[in-house]
Formats: sequence, C-alpha cells, structure tokens
Amino acid sequence: MISPEKKMDLLVSLCKRRGFVYPDSDIYGGFANAFDYGPNGIELKNNIRDAWWKRFVHGREDVVGIDTPIIQHPKVWEASGHLATFSDPLVDCKKCKRRFRADHLLEAKQAEPGYNKEVPLHIKDVDCPECGGELTDIKNFNLMFKTFVGVTEDSANVAYLRPETAAGMFTAWKNVRDTMRKKLPFGIAQVGKAFRNEITPGNFIFRTREFEQMEIEYFVKPDDSERAFDMWLNEMKIWVEDVLKINPKNLVYKEISESDRAFYSKRTVDIEYQYPFGQKELYGLANRTDYDLSRHQEFSGEDLRWLDPETNTKILPHVVEPTWGLSRTVLAVLVEHLDVDEADTSEGETEPRMVLRLPPRLSPVKAAVLPLQKKDGLADIGRELASKIRAAGLVVEYDESGSIGKRYRRQDEIGTPWCFTVDYDTKENNTVTVRDRDAMTQERIKIDEVVAFIQSRLN
Ligand code: ATP
Repeated sequence: MISPEKKMDLLVSLCKRRGFVYPDSDIYGGFANAFDYGPNGIELKNNIRDAWWKRFVHGREDVVGIDTPIIQHPKVWEASGHLATFSDPLVDCKKCKRRFRADHLLEAKQAEPGYNKEVPLHIKDVDCPECGGELTDIKNFNLMFKTFVGVTEDSANVAYLRPETAAGMFTAWKNVRDTMRKKLPFGIAQVGKAFRNEITPGNFIFRTREFEQMEIEYFVKPDDSERAFDMWLNEMKIWVEDVLKINPKNLVYKEISESDRAFYSKRTVDIEYQYPFGQKELYGLANRTDYDLSRHQEFSGEDLRWLDPETNTKILPHVVEPTWGLSRTVLAVLVEHLDVDEADTSEGETEPRMVLRLPPRLSPVKAAVLPLQKKDGLADIGRELASKIRAAGLVVEYDESGSIGKRYRRQDEIGTPWCFTVDYDTKENNTVTVRDRDAMTQERIKIDEVVAFIQSRLN
C-alpha cells in the first residue's frame, strides 16, 4: 500500500509527464497555484463537462443552459451580498509572516485528539502551524478580484471578476422566464470560470484562484423547495457514484448545521471527497430560499416575480442550487481512478506501475492503435485503422515506436481503455488484437468491427 502523500506525488508527476496538468508559465519558473491543462487534461475536463451538460441540460425537460460574462454589472455583487460579505478570515504569523485562514486553523485544532469541544476556542489560543509563532488578530479579506472597465482607473469604473457563475442565472432569470415558456419548477445551468483571490490556495488543482464551476439554479414554488432539494441530492449522488464511478466509501454527504450555513439558507449539504490530503468539499447543495431574487429585485427595481397560471397570482420563486466544481472533479476523478502497484524492473528492483482506470466515457483517448512492427506494411494498416476510428469522432492515438510493453504502459497511464495491435496475422485474416486496460484480456476481432466495438462499449 502506498501512502496518500506518495500517491499525490505520483499523481502530480504523472499529470505533467502525460500531458494532463502542467505548472502554468513554466518557462518563467511557474506562477504559483496556476496550472495549464495539457492535451489529455483538457480532453478529460471536456468529457466531464459534456457528460454533465448532456445529463442535466439535454437530458432534462426542466433545465436550460446559458452563458453569461465573467465581468458583470458591479451592482450585481452589491445585490448578491458578495461585496459586503464574500470574505475569508485571515491571520498572519508575526514571526514567519506566513498567511492562514483562521477558520481552517481553528477547525484543525478542534479536530486534534483530546480537544474539549465544550471550551470555546479563540484564534489567540492557536499558534502558527509552521513555526509556532504568534498570530495576528483576524482580518476579513474580500476574495473578489477587482478590475477597471474602460480607460480610466477610477471608482466609477470598478468592476469584479465573478467569484461564482450563479449570479448570471439570477440576472438572466427574467429574460429566460419570458422567452423560454417554462413553468416552475425549472432550472438554469451554466458552466464557466470563476475567480477567487484565495488566501491559501494549494493542494494542486484543488484550490486555485481561477477555476471552473458547473452550476444550476433551480427555481421552484416556495412550498416545493424541500422536495426539489431531495431530488437534487439524489441526482448529485447518481452523478458522482454512477457517472464518475467514485466509490461511496470515499464520499461523505455532510449536513451543514444552521450555525455554519449562510443565514438565508434553509438547508445545505456538502458532498466531501476523501482526497489524499484529507476529506474536503467536492460539491455543495443549498436551499437558497428567495434570497437572491428578492435582493436583485430590490437593487434592480425590476419585478422578478413569476405569474402562476394556475392561481393567477405572482410569486417570487425559491431557489435550490446544486453546484459542482469542475476543476475539483478532475482532481477527484484522477485520484479515485489512479491505481498504483509495484512492478519488477529488469534490474531486479521494483517501481510503481500506474493505471488510470477512468470510466471509458471520460478517458481522454478512447483507443490506441499499435502496429507490432513498422515494416512489412503493418504501419500502413495501423494508420488506416486509426483514421477510421478518428473519422467516427473518437479520439485515437497511433503509436509505432518503442517496445509494445512500453506502449501499453503509456496508454495505461493516460487511461486508454482499449489498445488495438496490428500484427502479422492481421495481414492474413484482417483481424487485430484488442487489449482491455482493466481485464488485461486480449481477444482477436475483425478490423472492420473495431469502431462498432468501441462505440458499443461507450454507450
Ligand atoms: P471551500 O470551502 O472549499 O472554499 P466553498 O464552500 O467556498 O469551498 P462554494 O462557494 O460552495 O465553495 O463553491 C462551489 C464549488 O466550487 C465548490 O464545491 C468547489 O467544487 C468549487 N470551488 C470553490 N472554490 C474553489 C477553488 N478555489 N478552486 C477550485 N474549486 C473551487
């Protein structure tokens, strides 16, 4: 068994070596906590995003999609409450000058064995976890990135990068309601970038200052919000367990107590995942009541109520918000499906052997075509087969160099579910061997059946 720390190190190096995630601005020495998604990383991320959109937008009669700007009218953030309250409690160490989130330090202290939960804890009771130095008082630090729109940098031109995608759904609600002929309950979905000037980013792509979210604001009649909440909780469970194939034993559905949730929230459940660096939030689900629409109604002066055709009365809908971090999903999926064991080397030692057992639908590359030899026309047959697979809209890699064992290992590390090997028998009888990544079986199938073989297993 490898330790969680070792697994995380192996994952980070695999991500770089195999083109999933690189440090950003690497040629300049990197830019802390910023990452590039490489060719395999972007395929994986897009596959997750597409599976989500297909399931929750195309697959449902009651959800429509939108795309709104990263920089919206600054009033939006006044109305949403972000300008006043979207802050984290910050403390500095007076000795080593490191910076921490006070809530994280307090939580860690309270989780220590022997801590008496009855005794209230103050930040003054906590020392710097790095050097033991004294900490400053707590300051509140607003997480929104400020910028200026237009040529002059004065307060009239101040704008913000959105810290979540949700606000766009509230500001577009009236237009969507008026144009899409939807009846309550119905939801608006969006996928996009969000920006937070996090005090303590880290743990690879878990917490970054720029990240992606997939969110739905689900508008309901006030007395329908509890049913809708349960329905979305179930949907999120199916997504994470059946689509991403994350083992339920690595998940915790955490009911957030009244004292810990936002004042307007009637109920909040965090879905936490057992990352190698600890159990942390993956997704969240909140019953936001009519907080957002009532605030935007007040600040915009527009009537945001919905006319219920059954009762002919106007009501302000309540909102249930399931939110999925896309970047955190990429990390959870990689952690969950990275399988590491020890393999013997030719020098009589052992080395870690890694297989990404991704659900095939999420794999960046669906198939690899590997001719046993370049010569004797095997390469030509292989290239032709790869073109056929590509023409069917499937991502395929053609690889003719190095030993076949090494080529299999490379495909295992990027999670390719099927490798097709062209050998001398192919010339005789038009068949290839299929190697299954997980079962490690090899079977021969007709070259003409390869595309159907892949497609039938993906659907
Ligand atoms: P945390 O407690 O980890 O800071 P949060 O409760 O502030 O998260 P939300 O505001 O509920 O997070 O954001 C919704 C989702 O967006 C989270 O569940 C997470 O998946 C994702 N997310 C939030 N902040 C980040 C970040 N800095 N980097 C990557 N993903 C993030």
